[in-house]
Amino acid sequence: MILTDSLLLDYKRCQRRAFLNLYGNSDERSSERDFLLKLRQESQKHITSVLTEFYPDHHQPQSPRKDWEKRVAETKTLMEQGVDCIYDGFLAHALREPSQEREGLILLGHPHLLVKQSGNSVWGDWFYTPVSIQLGRRPKPEYKILAALYAQLLAVWQERFPPYAEIILRRQNRYRVDLVEWLPRLHSTITECLQTLVQRQEPEVFISRQRCNLCHWYDHCYAIAQSQSHLSLVPGVTPSRYESLQEMGVVTVTSLAEACPVTMAETFGNAIASQLQTQAIAIMENRAIAKTNLPKKPLPNANFEIYFDIEAEPERNLDYLLGVILINRQTSEETFYGFIAEEPEEEGNIWQEFLTLMQTYPTAPIFHFAEYEVETIKRLAQLYNTPKKERDQLLNRCFDLHHYVVNTVTFPVENYSLKTLANWLGFQWRDSNASGDQSVWWYDQWLETRDRNFLDLVLRYNEDDCRATWILKDWLVNFFEKNNL
Ligand code: SF4
Repeated sequence: MILTDSLLLDYKRCQRRAFLNLYGNSDERSSERDFLLKLRQESQKHITSVLTEFYPDHHQPQSPRKDWEKRVAETKTLMEQGVDCIYDGFLAHALREPSQEREGLILLGHPHLLVKQSGNSVWGDWFYTPVSIQLGRRPKPEYKILAALYAQLLAVWQERFPPYAEIILRRQNRYRVDLVEWLPRLHSTITECLQTLVQRQEPEVFISRQRCNLCHWYDHCYAIAQSQSHLSLVPGVTPSRYESLQEMGVVTVTSLAEACPVTMAETFGNAIASQLQTQAIAIMENRAIAKTNLPKKPLPNANFEIYFDIEAEPERNLDYLLGVILINRQTSEETFYGFIAEEPEEEGNIWQEFLTLMQTYPTAPIFHFAEYEVETIKRLAQLYNTPKKERDQLLNRCFDLHHYVVNTVTFPVENYSLKTLANWLGFQWRDSNASGDQSVWWYDQWLETRDRNFLDLVLRYNEDDCRATWILKDWLVNFFEKNNL
C-alpha cells in the first residue's frame, strides 16, 4: 500500500473521504465541480508565480508522475548533484517491506519545492528544506502536517532533519512550521490513518455542510445519511454532541425527538437540549415551530421594499454583482436591478449605481440574508469614500433575515441556508446547479471568454437569490400573523 501525501491530506479533512478514495466504488463518485477546477487553476497560477519570482532556475524531474519510482530516483539524483532548487520532486520511504504475509507500506510525498541550504548531510556540505506552496491565507493544520511529512521523508534520505519546513501562502506570505510540535502530530496521524486504511475500517458518515460541500462523495454520503435518518442532518448536532447522543442511545432523529428531556438537559444544558429536541420534532413532523423568545422588533412592511443580494469573489476581494429586487406593494410591481461589474475595476461604479437607487427609495427597508451584505456596505463605503452619514442611514435600513429566522423559527430543514429554507417554502432556483461558488466560476468564465451567457447565468442566479429572500420575508410575516405572534 502506498500512503501518499494527498491521501493523508484527505484523511485530515475527513477520514471517510480518504477511505472512499482508496476503496470506494468510483461509480458513486460525482464528477468534479467547476469551482474545484477553478481552485486548482488558481493554485497552479500561484505556484507558477512563486517559481517565477523566487526560484526561476529550478530543476524538475522529467519522468511521468505516475511512474513514481523513477521520479523518486530522479529527485534523489538531483539532490546528490546539489542543484539549488527542485520543483515537483518525489520523496518516498518504505515503512514496511513486503513479505509473503503482508503487502509493503510506502510513504510517498511530493513537496512543491526542495531548496538547498548550507550544512552537512549525507550529500556533502548541503542539505534540503521542503517548501509547500498553498493557496490559503493561513497555515491550516493539514498544511502543517504535510510540511512535517516532507521534513520527515527528507530526514530519512539526507540523514538529518531540516531545521524547519516552510509554507508559502497566498500573497507570497511565508510561514515556518515548528517541527518539534508537528512531527509528533504527523506520527500519530499516520498511525491512525494506517489503522483505518489497512484494516479497512469504513468511517461512519457525518454530514457537515462546510466540510462536505465540495466533496465528490457528497451525493453518496448524503444518500446514506438520509436513509439512516442520520443525526448529522439535524442542525445543531456537532460531532461532539453526536458522540454524547450516541452514549445516551440516541441515534436517529426520532429517538432525539423522543429522548428524555431531563437526561438531555443534564448533558447539554436546558437551552441546547430544548433546541435540539425542537429541531428534531420540526423535522419529524415537517412543520415550522415558532420560538418562544421572539425579538421585540417585528419585520417592517412598507410600500417599497428592497431585497438585496451580493455576488462576490473573496480571493480577489471583489464584489462583482450588487443585485436588488424592488417591490412596490401598492401596485404589486417588481423590478430587478443587477449592478454588475463587467470588469473587476468597475466595482466602484456599481457601488455608486446601487447608492443612487437606494437614495431614490430612501425609506424602503433593505432585506438581505446573513451578514455579508452589511459587511460589504461597510467595506465599499470605506473604499469609495461614501459619507459616513449616508453609510449609516443605509445600514439602519438593513434587516438580516438569517439572523431573524434563527432567532424566531425552527424550520424542518437540515441547515439554515437561504437555498434550503426557500426550497422548503416551495421556491426553486431556475438553474438547479446554481450556487455562490458556481457564480464565481461563471463570472471567471465571463472574464476569460467574454461569452455573455455566463453573465446572464450570474444575473439569473442573483435575481433568484433576491426573490428567495423576498419569499422568505413574506412567509415569516404570514407565519407570525397566522399564529398571532
Ligand atoms: S461527503 Fe462528507 S462525510 Fe462523505 S466523504 Fe465527503 S467529506 Fe467525508
